Amino acid sequence: MTDWNTRTKLVHAGTRRSQYNEVSEAIFLTQGFVYDTAEDAEARFIETGPDEYIYARYGNPTVRMFEERIAALEGTEDAFATASGMAAVNGAMTSMLRAGDHVVSARALFGSCLYILEDILTRYGVEVTFVDGTDLDQWKAAIRSDTKAVFFESLSNPTLEVIDIKSVAELAHAVGATVVVDNVFATPVFSRAVELGADVVVYSATKHIDGQGRCLGGVICASRDFIRKTAEPYLKHTGGALSPFNAWVMLKGMETLDLRCRAQADTALAIAQAVQGHEKLANTIYPHLADHPQHALAMETMEKGGTVLSLDIKGGKDAAFRFLNALQIVTISNNLGDAKSIATHPTTTTHQRLTDAQRASLGITDGLVRFSVGLEDTQDLIADVLAGLDAV
Ligand SMILES: *Cc1c(COP(=O)(O)O)cnc(C)c1O
Repeated sequence: MTDWNTRTKLVHAGTRRSQYNEVSEAIFLTQGFVYDTAEDAEARFIETGPDEYIYARYGNPTVRMFEERIAALEGTEDAFATASGMAAVNGAMTSMLRAGDHVVSARALFGSCLYILEDILTRYGVEVTFVDGTDLDQWKAAIRSDTKAVFFESLSNPTLEVIDIKSVAELAHAVGATVVVDNVFATPVFSRAVELGADVVVYSATKHIDGQGRCLGGVICASRDFIRKTAEPYLKHTGGALSPFNAWVMLKGMETLDLRCRAQADTALAIAQAVQGHEKLANTIYPHLADHPQHALAMETMEKGGTVLSLDIKGGKDAAFRFLNALQIVTISNNLGDAKSIATHPTTTTHQRLTDAQRASLGITDGLVRFSVGLEDTQDLIADVLAGLDAV
């Protein structure tokens, strides 16, 4: 299986068949498992092997298939699936940190990630230093001999900054710190975070892995040691387990993940190229456009530029709202990675909680629109976006 290429892993890795030899993965919609004898029950609680299930909060065969498939794709020894992306971020960080520990994090984060780093961890005595994730000098200055972990989104939301995973990992590993990467925007298809030095990679499976807007889910990918000795004890006792039904949706989503992400990224690039320099736009942000601030790094580390682009519309909130309200195909929502194209106004929605100064420091202007590109026809989407800009 380790020799298989991505598409083969996405279709077959981790498959377990019941006594019926079903073709498609079965949904084991069960909480518990029966033991033949009292002795079997006793043994199960002493020695838990990979096939020995006890209770679905600890593990379940459908969930296990999803974990094994994503671990195979990511290139980690193991994975633990969670009820949402945030349960994965919280599980990865909280399970490894203690009061007094020091963490360095990039400042440009998904709102709930920022809440965990800034409000929750600090409440329990963890010290967190925030840096501009694109500035290696800031990482160098902030990482100390006692730094326990670093955290960042490899491709940030919503301004699409590309973080140099390899260089940050080298700085972190020099002091023995664990590198935790939220790889959602870069996608498991385009980013090789583990090869570049990430120790722990977290995903919101809600995004591209489901990819069709149905279920919440998340996953932590890491070494067997980290998953079994650090993450699992915390997660199985605190109740963030993924539902077997949702795991099944994610498994079926993975079969088409590579195809979808490639099609969506090709369209994203085509739209970015079609609107770049438009008179109504102050900026078109897409990692594989030549004027992106980390273009060279994006070309080197990401096979495609991702499925999201951001448009900075001249004229602030009013202009952005006129654009959004004029779109006919693209829907206004706040998810991403979906088959349906989705546009978001971060200032008034996902990043509303931040102060004006915080938003300004992250480059989130009042005219910024995040655009998650779906699977619709490329020319139809370009026409929709151009008509939206005409309405501004
Ligand atoms: C959506 C998202 C999350 C949280 O995932 P949920 O499944 O919504 O909990 C975390 N990080 C990033 C970058 C995201 O886009």
